Amino acid sequence: MNVLQIISITKKYESRIVLNDVSTTIVNGITGIIGPNGSGKSTLLKIITGLLSPDNGTLFYNEKRINLQSMEWRVKIGYLPQEPGLYERMTAYEYLDYLLILSKWKNKQSRKERINALMEKLNFVPFGDYIIKDLSGGIRQKVAIAQALIHDPLIILFDEPTNNLDTEERNRIHDYLLEISKEKIILFIGHIIDELSRLCSRILVLDKGELKYNGKPAELIEQQRDFVKEIRVPFENNHQTLKESLKILNIGQNGNELIVHFDSRFNDHSKSCLIKPTLSEAYQSLFFSNQITR
Ligand code: ADP
Ligand code: MG
Repeated sequence: MNVLQIISITKKYESRIVLNDVSTTIVNGITGIIGPNGSGKSTLLKIITGLLSPDNGTLFYNEKRINLQSMEWRVKIGYLPQEPGLYERMTAYEYLDYLLILSKWKNKQSRKERINALMEKLNFVPFGDYIIKDLSGGIRQKVAIAQALIHDPLIILFDEPTNNLDTEERNRIHDYLLEISKEKIILFIGHIIDELSRLCSRILVLDKGELKYNGKPAELIEQQRDFVKEIRVPFENNHQTLKESLKILNIGQNGNELIVHFDSRFNDHSKSCLIKPTLSEAYQSLFFSNQITR
């Protein structure tokens, strides 16, 4: 089992605090990081990669303090930035081969096998010989994902990896990550929250640089479950008053019915009943908790 300990990380830009005393322990499996824009998700990953130095705090890997600038640490991690820059003039294959050479994979045949196997897993074999700048957004994104994985790192840091990918391709990436996650620490910043409940063994919720939740997705659902209710109303009704009076988490439609999920801590409704929220409903309701003044 690999253990990454994040201890009291604080990061400021100028005098503004963007990460405030963040501590958590991460083990093998996929840990999802979610939170509103600007909550410090990307900053946290950049600190783990060594690209940014924290103002305070330390990181330990398997009980040893990490020297974030060391080669020893660099080779253990694979990082996909939110806006990856690639070597535009190489082919996808040449680029991955070049990265493996940098990672000291000396044997040409093993490099070839590794690249082909990964291109196959990520489903872009036919594009291996394309110059990267000529690739479409989705395939480029897969090459970017591949550059983070190619050297078989122990710690994988993904900043919104599935932007640009359609559902089928997102699922393919998720399945592959699940397949390799037993032996690896995977930190995954995502924004399609309901997809993370299948993917992640744990989730971290960041809000304004602070850790607001740290645990299993199912436990967040359980924690918010007492507050989330559903009401069904005929579709033809005028829903304006209903929508304005309730703190809405989600609205759907089923046949002639409008289905409204809401946080009952604000206004309740006599015809509603408690339901089990989805992860994204539980997540929103977690944020609503701040607005309750009692
Ligand atoms: P997230 O990834 O959760 O959207 P970020 O980690 O990118 O958030 O950013 C956290 C906060 O830090 C934001 O308010 C952002 O504007 C600020 N920030 C990020 N990078 C810089 C920088 N280089 N200089 C100043 N402020 C920055
Ligand atoms: Mg970000």
